[in-house]
Amino acid sequence: MLSVSEARERILAVFLPVETQNVSLSHTAGRILAGDITADADLPLFDNSSVDGFALHSADLTSTRTLNVIADIRAGGYFGTPIQPGQSVRIMTGAPLPPGAEAVVMVEDTDFSVRTPGTPAPLTVTIKKTIRPGENIRRRSDDLHTGDKVLSAGLRLRAQEIGLLAMLGVAEVQVYRRPRLALLSSGDELVAVEAPLTPGKIHESNSYALAAMAQNAGVELIQLGVAADNEADIRSRLERAVEAKADAIVSSAGVSLGAFDYVKSVIEKDGELDFWKVNMRPGKPLAFGKYRGIPFFGLPGNPVSAFVGFEVFVRPALEKLSGLELRPRARQTAYLSEPLESDGRESYLRAIVSQENDRLMARLTGHQGSGNIFSLVRANALLIVPSGVKSLLANSEVEIWPIA
Ligand code: AMP
Ligand code: MG
Repeated sequence: MLSVSEARERILAVFLPVETQNVSLSHTAGRILAGDITADADLPLFDNSSVDGFALHSADLTSTRTLNVIADIRAGGYFGTPIQPGQSVRIMTGAPLPPGAEAVVMVEDTDFSVRTPGTPAPLTVTIKKTIRPGENIRRRSDDLHTGDKVLSAGLRLRAQEIGLLAMLGVAEVQVYRRPRLALLSSGDELVAVEAPLTPGKIHESNSYALAAMAQNAGVELIQLGVAADNEADIRSRLERAVEAKADAIVSSAGVSLGAFDYVKSVIEKDGELDFWKVNMRPGKPLAFGKYRGIPFFGLPGNPVSAFVGFEVFVRPALEKLSGLELRPRARQTAYLSEPLESDGRESYLRAIVSQENDRLMARLTGHQGSGNIFSLVRANALLIVPSGVKSLLANSEVEIWPIA
C-alpha cells in the first residue's frame, strides 16, 4: 500500500499550473500573481510633507523667527520656485516639497493657530521651535526604488499587495485563472439538505463541506450533485465535468469494497485508476486516477475521512494547479496531554491544541469514528501520528496541522 507521501508525490506529479489571464486590479483579491512585479516608479514619487505645516529654508531651522509666507501648497498642488532664506510656504500633508526647502515645521509649532478648513495662509508665520534638517519630510523612494522587484509570481494577492500595485499605477494584473473543480457525491442513502428524511436516508453533507474548503482555496466549483449507486448515473455526472472543462474532479464515497461502490469501477472502466488505497487513517480507501484525462480524486464517503483526504491530498494539488508557489507546510509541534494509541497507519486525528504555560499541548477530541463530524467541529487541529507508531506516551512531541 502507498504511504501518504508517496501518494501525494504521485498526485502532485499530475498537476501543472493553469493558464494565466489579465484581470483589472479591483478583481484581484485572493488571486495568484502569475508574473513578477518590478516597480516602474519610486515610492514615494517625490519628496513631500508628512505633516500640515510650513516648509523651511535650511537657513531658518534654528531659533525663533518670523518668515514671509510666499505660497500655499495643498495635496495635489505644486510650487516650483525655490524658497529663499526668510521665506516659507504653507504646505499640507502629501504636498510636494518646494525646491530649496529642507524641513517642515508642524502648524502646532507656529503662531498660526486658525485650524478651520478653508482658512487662507497667513502673510507671515513665526516659528517657535528648532527643526532638524529633513524633519517631517518623506523622501522620494524611501519605501522603494524604480527597478526594485517588489512581488514574486506565485503569491496570493492580499489587501496590502493590491494597495501597493495601485500606488505603482498597475491597473491590470496577470494572474492565474481560477481552477475549476467538479464535486460529486454518491450514495442511495443521501438526500439534499432541504429534502425530508425517510427511513434509512441521511442528509448529504460532503458536497457542502468540500465546496466550502474548495472555495476557500480559491477555485470555481462545478457541482455534479449526488449520483445514485449505479454506474450509469455516476458516468453521466462525470461527463458533465468533462463538458464543463473541469481541471480536477473530487468525488466522495463509493471507493471501498462495498457491494454498491461503483465509483472506483467507473474510473477503472472509463478512465485510469492510478491507486486506490493509502496507508492512512482515516481514509484508507482513497482513489486517484483520471476520468477522460481529468485528474480524479475518489475520497472516502465518511465526512471526516473526506475532510482529511481533502487536506492531505486535494489541497496541495489545488495549490499547484492555482499557480501558488509550493512551500512545505510550516511544521508545527505540540506535546501530548495524554498517552495515545494508534494502529500503525499514518494517522490524522482530531485534536484540541491549547497553550499551557510555555507549551502547546494537544489532546484528542474523543472517539475518532470517521463519521463523527461534530468531533471535527470541536477540533482546532489535526494531530499526526507517523506510520509504524502504535502508541505514544504523554508529553511526546507530535506534529499538528492547525485547521482554520
Ligand atoms: P461509502 O464510501 O459509500 O461506503 O460511504 C461511507 C459512509 O459515508 C457511509 O456511511 C455513507 O452514508 C457516508 N457518506 C457517503 N457520502 C456521503 C455524503 N456525501 N454526505 C454524508 N455522508 C456520506
Ligand atoms: Mg456508498
